Amino acid sequence: MNLRMNYINGRWQPAVSGATREITDPANGETIGLVADSDADDARAAIAAAKHAFYADGRWRRTPAPKRAELLLRVADAIGDRADELARLDSRDNGKPLREARCDIDDAAACFRYYAGLIGAPQGGVYEVSDAFGPMHAFSMHEPVGVCAQITPWNYPLLMATWKLAPALAAGNCVVFKPSELTPLSAIALFEIFEQAGLPPGTANLVLGIGATVGAELAASHDVDMITFTGSTPTGQAIARAAVGNLKKVGLELGGKSPNIVFADADLEGAVEWAMIGVFFNQGEVCSAGARILVEESIKDRFVGRLAERARAITIGRGLEDPDIGAIVSQAQLDKILGFVERAQAQGARLVCGGQRHVAGDCAKGLFMQPTLLDDCTPDMEIVREEVFGPVASIQTFRTEAEAIQMANDTRYGLAGGVFTTDGARALRVVRELRAGITWINCYNPTFNEAPWGGYKMSGYGRELGVNGLLEYQQVKQVSTNLRPGPVGWYTR
Ligand code: NAD
Repeated sequence: MNLRMNYINGRWQPAVSGATREITDPANGETIGLVADSDADDARAAIAAAKHAFYADGRWRRTPAPKRAELLLRVADAIGDRADELARLDSRDNGKPLREARCDIDDAAACFRYYAGLIGAPQGGVYEVSDAFGPMHAFSMHEPVGVCAQITPWNYPLLMATWKLAPALAAGNCVVFKPSELTPLSAIALFEIFEQAGLPPGTANLVLGIGATVGAELAASHDVDMITFTGSTPTGQAIARAAVGNLKKVGLELGGKSPNIVFADADLEGAVEWAMIGVFFNQGEVCSAGARILVEESIKDRFVGRLAERARAITIGRGLEDPDIGAIVSQAQLDKILGFVERAQAQGARLVCGGQRHVAGDCAKGLFMQPTLLDDCTPDMEIVREEVFGPVASIQTFRTEAEAIQMANDTRYGLAGGVFTTDGARALRVVRELRAGITWINCYNPTFNEAPWGGYKMSGYGRELGVNGLLEYQQVKQVSTNLRPGPVGWYTR
């Protein structure tokens, strides 16, 4: 099996230590890749390459925006050309159903196109000002931040990489990118695409390895100007602490425990299906998952009955065979999910369906989890408070709008939330009260390159996607010009 390597300063290189790591398909345990397993030395080499490329060489940041956009459009085209291969890679690496992986790849290509377009839009503004020194003309301009380190998790391998790399490169930064050690294969393919598209050496560097070594070095290095991270809240906190050393800019997209609120007047079949999309999509390994279902008491039995009926009908299997739910990414993650379900029942939650590892047929060879519903949950239970990151929903009931809002916000997280009702004014009232960065009305989980994505509270800070996603990777410089050069006459002697 060919060794897949780091991409540093325009060259493919093994880890300095020579260490390697096997990548496995969670659906059957097969080895699907052999990659460099880097440590802090490799991270330092990549940071040095990015620093040289940004500061000493400066080629990418001085490339006019329309030219940078042309290159990003070539990247988007190449992703499109390799879409089938990339979707299969992500499906095998992460376990996700093939049709979901195909959507991820389409979204990734569209994201590069979006930022290629956006970087051509006006950047900055002009201010007509004057003060005691005379007339002045002031304007602001947007510049790249510098050396950006980027770290992603395993749930959306190519898409999470794209959400970070597309805006950072559009803005003219140089980057060091570290994918999850569990799912690096599509990111490696993306860097092949960067190379073929003609990105100057050192502009985008790839380091394959674990968080404790490579990730920690990226967070602590004084040569890194900005770090953006998607992953768990504890890791985000560790990164924010490490980043204090040189006060590098930090962007954190962290975990969640998001409420999905269903009022009695909602379209029941629609709310049921969207609730499934909310918590079973991508095996529930979605940061915005609607994992806390809050349902109005008067329809609870009907809603839960129908949801359970449909959950039991869900197909589970190898991602490439395009089931409804694919494999869980790792044994550790599956054990974590099963532990949550077991403790929830011990604390008094009632198992409605699922709750077990799925081992029917060929699934016995892999890591599969049944879609799981836990009813009669109470606010203090672990299953209501902590992120599971699996196909598991807790169910609670409410009687009034005010109670629904109070329950929805009773969490340290603030990533997302959904509301289902046919009363438009109520939908807007509820959404305005939700302390969360991403909200949905009569749907759950649709995500657009055009709209900002990010959390409140312990779900992090900063935004990805949309105009905000580009602004994160830019510094804003004020330039003030004296319109009447010469002596001011301020000092009279
Ligand atoms: P994780 O925090 O364990 O790892 C994420 C990444 O951080 C990996 O690349 C890992 O190698 C690296 N890492 C680990 N320790 C590190 C350290 N000390 N310093 C620097 N880097 C380190 O998370 P995970 O298990 O890969 O992903 C699941 C989590 O990600 C969930 O909590 C989920 O909510 C979150 N997530 C959030 C979003 C979002 O947009 N908000 C999107 C996807 C996933």
